[in-house]
Amino acid sequence: MFKIKSHRCKECAEPLHGRSDKLFCEDACRVKHHRRNNSLSAVKRGVDQVLQKNRTLLSALRKNPFEKLGPEDRAYWLRRQGFDFNFHTHVQLAQDGRMVIMCYDEGYVLEGDGVIPWVERGDMNRSLAPRLLS
Ligand SMILES: [Zn+2]
Repeated sequence: MFKIKSHRCKECAEPLHGRSDKLFCEDACRVKHHRRNNSLSAVKRGVDQVLQKNRTLLSALRKNPFEKLGPEDRAYWLRRQGFDFNFHTHVQLAQDGRMVIMCYDEGYVLEGDGVIPWVERGDMNRSLAPRLLS
């Protein structure tokens, strides 16, 4: 005897009958599944566009001539370029304990009403552990 792998509709999880490559019990389930997937994709694309833009602006901010600007001027410049402070990918602790807000590999530290650019240097493991363990 051999076991028959359980085979269920990807949308409603009802057992499927018939061809083994069937994914949905009926057209309604197939349509529902694709519709939901597409709307999630649209949301993801929108979020990613904001994050990519943020990252590009942070990267530009680290370079000349912005080095001479103070933190408030940098935040003002970012806002004017369309930087969205509501969106980031993750947070890290810098070695000095400050919280770094990241958009992928580019980030910033809040300083008063301004920002200081910060860049990931490839060793993410150092970010949280040393402070918490010492
Ligand atoms: Zn179904």
